[in-house]
Amino acid sequence: MYFSDIIFGPVQSRRLGVSLGINLLPLHGKWCNFDCIYCECGWNKEGLADRRLPARADVRGALEARLRTLAAEKKLPDAITFSGNGEPTIHPEFAGIVDDVVALRNRFAPAAKVCVLSNATTLMRDEVFAALQKTDCPILKLDSAITSTAKRMNNPAGDYTVEQVVAAMQRFRHDFILQTMFLRGDCRGAFIDNATPGEVSRWLEVVSLLRPREVMIYTIDRETPAQGLQKIPLHELEQIAAKVKQMGIPVRVSG
Ligand code: SF4
Repeated sequence: MYFSDIIFGPVQSRRLGVSLGINLLPLHGKWCNFDCIYCECGWNKEGLADRRLPARADVRGALEARLRTLAAEKKLPDAITFSGNGEPTIHPEFAGIVDDVVALRNRFAPAAKVCVLSNATTLMRDEVFAALQKTDCPILKLDSAITSTAKRMNNPAGDYTVEQVVAAMQRFRHDFILQTMFLRGDCRGAFIDNATPGEVSRWLEVVSLLRPREVMIYTIDRETPAQGLQKIPLHELEQIAAKVKQMGIPVRVSG
């Protein structure tokens, strides 16, 4: 299921409270430099017909109109979140759009947090890094500390190594939120499980190195494009979370 508007919601988010969404990607399918086996927006190939991105002015206008309405109704959201049909930071005007969104938040919904869900592959681009630092919650994805597992889960376009992504995350000097999807099951005829003791042990080493200000762990909640994937039971997620808490890092679990 993909989002068919630039601004969507507000929706009740498991992790962010009442969240107004911003979709900087095409309105008729997904466009991402990942193609995660669990992506709620389906596969990239389903969105090939339309690769038009909304212009900065259109995003600004749509958000202003929506925030005006929500303010008049006294229904302002807890968060304004870049998410939508793909990776928001691949929009060429991402940095300018962040400036607009922060300004509109300040004007209409000063209590709302500006959040970005990013797969962390563009962090080495200075303009993306600077823009993310202007937001309240850069929520950065790392699904495995083992490159081969991450590649199977995320199907990245181009070169991808965990080491590169971790180095880029270190630029935030701990001031970001780390997000990890845990799952297991059949993936194109072979079993995948990023919640094994070995996987979790390596992941905890990376968490310890990065020391993000918060960790969010979650599992499958809706239909996935890859068939045969399973949720990780809540008690297993809680066991992983307990190890993060032992490091003194706040952790949020969505089972
Ligand atoms: S990074 Fe997000 S939008 Fe992109 S494929 Fe993965 S889940 Fe979907």
